[in-house]
Parts: sequence; C-alpha cells; structure tokens
Amino acid sequence: MANKKRRKQRRLNKGNLIILMVIAIAILGLIGAGTAYLLNLGQPSFLKSGNARSAEVVKDKTSDVQIAVYYPKSESNAGWQSLAESQAQALLDQLKAETADFNKAKKPLLVKADYQLILTQERYASVLYTIQKNDGGVIQESAKTYLVDLQSNQLIDPASVFDQDALEWIAARFRADMKAQEATREEAYGMPFIQASAANSGNYTSFSLEEGVLHFFFPAGTMLSQDIRWDMPVSELGEHFLLDVGQGTLDVNKVRIPPRVIDPNKPMVCLTFDDGPHPVNTPEILNILKNYDSAATFFMQGFRVERYPETTLNIINSGSEAASHSFNHPKLTKLKDDDLNYQLNRTTELVQELTDWQYTIRLFRPPYGAVNDKVKAASAYPLVMWNIDTLDWKTRDPEQTHANVMNEVKDGDIILMHDIHAETVEAVQRIVPDLIAQGYQLVTVDEMLEAKGLTANNGQRVFSSRSIKD
Ligand code: ZN
Repeated sequence: MANKKRRKQRRLNKGNLIILMVIAIAILGLIGAGTAYLLNLGQPSFLKSGNARSAEVVKDKTSDVQIAVYYPKSESNAGWQSLAESQAQALLDQLKAETADFNKAKKPLLVKADYQLILTQERYASVLYTIQKNDGGVIQESAKTYLVDLQSNQLIDPASVFDQDALEWIAARFRADMKAQEATREEAYGMPFIQASAANSGNYTSFSLEEGVLHFFFPAGTMLSQDIRWDMPVSELGEHFLLDVGQGTLDVNKVRIPPRVIDPNKPMVCLTFDDGPHPVNTPEILNILKNYDSAATFFMQGFRVERYPETTLNIINSGSEAASHSFNHPKLTKLKDDDLNYQLNRTTELVQELTDWQYTIRLFRPPYGAVNDKVKAASAYPLVMWNIDTLDWKTRDPEQTHANVMNEVKDGDIILMHDIHAETVEAVQRIVPDLIAQGYQLVTVDEMLEAKGLTANNGQRVFSSRSIKD
C-alpha cells in the first residue's frame, strides 16, 4: 500500500512536474497581479505626499477617479490647522467637480494636490498647491495658492495686498518681460494679453511668496496661450506691497520710470499731446495709455508745469515722455535772443527742478510749428513737428479726430493732438485700441527715434520717422 502510494506520487511528480510548475507560476502570477491591483486601489505611489511627516490628507475615490489633497499639519495652532483643512476640502470639492465627467478607459484618473508651505516673518503662511492629474501616465500640472495671516488665522485676499502703484509696476514689468522673451514675444503685443495683464487687482491674485520673491502663476488661457510662471522681487514694490515682509520702502525718488520694451521690427506710431499738462484730461489719457501698455509724448507749456507738478510727474512715472512746448506759447520767430532762450529752455529747467535732476527733457516742439533759422540755431533740442494733424482743437469732435488718425496712419507717423480738450480724451479712448488692433506699437518720439536707429540733431525738424529735415 505504502509502496503503491509512493509509486503513484513518484509518477505524479515525474509525469506532471512540468504542468504543476506551469500552474504554480500561473497562480503566483495571478496572486502577484491581484496584490498589485489591490495595492493600487489602496494607495498608488503617485498619490503619496512629498511632505511625509507633516501632511494630513482629504481623499475621494470612485472607480474612475482617485483624488488626494494634502495639507499642512499644525499641532500648536488649531485655528490654522482647521483653516488649512477647510482649504484642502474646498480644493477637493473643486477637483471632484472638475473630474466628475471622467470615464476611465483602462486606469482610473489619479489626482494629487500636494502643498509647499513657506512661512514669512513667522506671520504669513504662503501655501502653494501643485496639482497633478495623472491620466494613464500622461500628467497635467497646475498650481493654486493661498495666503494666511497666522496672527488672526484669516485668509488674506490676494487682491488686497497690492496698491495701485504696485499693480502698475507689476503690470509694466510683466508686460516688458513677456515682450522680451522669444517664446512669449508675439502674443505679448496682442490685444488679448494687453487686456488680461492690465493693472487690475483681479489679474494678479495667483502667487506664492518665498524669501522675498513673488512667484506668479498664470494658467494657460488666462494671460497667454501657454502656462506662465513669473517671478518678481517684492523689494521692487516696497511699501506698495501692503504686507510687511521685511521688504523695506522704496527710495524717495520722485522719478521711477517703468520698464518698456519696443520691437524695432514692428510698426509704431507716436501720439503727441500739446499745450498741457491738464489736471483732469492728462491723467485720463495716461490711464488709457497704461491700460493698453502704451506711451505718448507730452509737449508741455512751462507755466502749466509750474501749476500742475503732480500731473507732470504722473506723465514721467507712467512711462510716457515729458517734452517742451515753450514756457507760454509765443511765436518763437518773433522773439529777441533772451526771450527766445527763455522760451526754449525754461520748461526743461522746471522739470529738472521738479524731478531733482532725475529727468531731462530731450525734445522741443515750437508753438504753431513756427521755426526760422534763428530758432533752429538757438535750439538745444531736435524740433519735433508732426505729419498727421488731427485738428482736434478745431473740430472738438472725437469721431472726426478718430477718423483723421485712422484714415491716414502709417508706420513712423507723428500724430498731433491736444490734451487740454476733453473731447480729445474721448477720441484717444478709441484711437489707442484701434491702432493696437492694427498692429501698431504706441511709443514716445524718443523711443521711436532710438528704435529706428535715427539721429535728429539739435535744430533739425522731425516730421515722422521718414522725414527729418534741417
Ligand atoms: Zn501749442
């Protein structure tokens, strides 16, 4: 009996050894695969936090989508802990809503929101979420940020931390940087970007703060067609960044000219405004220009510079050009030497004094365009004329002023208008976007001369980029 059994076993071992091994391997394989599958359902390694020791998590799991949102753990500050948790829960809800329509093909969609926490001055917690959506190995990444005051454990509204000066500086720097970079250059001159990047608090709300640097996040389709990450030191904003993060204050310089980038290969025109500055109209024109990432040249009368110093500084600090249109508008061709020199130079001296010698006028426009050899010889500036006269002072009709520009405009033109008339502001409101839509850059006369590599000597008359005459 025993022998028989042993023989049987021996026969089994010998005869079916190969089959047995195949089955065993198959079973092991199945167990292995099953285990991996079960593990995968439990916690795919993709969904693990990089903050292993200090993260809490809120999760959601369906057969199609698994989401894990981590948040910072704080044992010492219950208020901050519950705020962090509610922020994570809100993000989880948002991600659930975003992925509700996802139907898995083979693998479920894995979504992880992991955080980076940066503390500043032991008071401000800047939380940056990196959100990764893993669809069968194809990973999409986006970012989300929030800022907390740890003294009150309140969220800080990101639209409330910049004053208007800060926003204008941010917009100018951002636009200049996007124009300067090859990858973003073309789009940065287009109207959609110009509108999206205007100096409004709502346009600059997605940022984290780390060691004195603001990291801005602009998802594809908000500013440009591509995802943009852009850095700016908070020290550039000084006290205009309204949280004290040790950034200090700006120098008390009266002049702070925002950066501008001009493309010499793109068409450009110069809007020029005579006879101001005007305390109401000029700032309105400057706001239009800033909204559209543009600048103009203002040929000012000296007596009005004396009367409206703030408006004069506003021109310079908007990135536009301050230039001279004499002290009080006489016909220069009728003046004797002393009077002529006074009219040619007094406005420049006033602007130098006003700006503590940080800004110098480089261009002069003679009243009525009246010039003779004596004026040319006495002038320490190129004499800027114009080649499109809008006649805005005569018609006082925004429609007609707009038409006079749009019907004639070409690359390199210098367009004459007057910022002392309210109707001209109305015209500018339409002219500026219409010129940009036609592909023009709106630049100062000085910027155009430089961009086009032109030299205009003192006393020479500049009518346009195509016409400079003795
Ligand atoms: Zn004039």
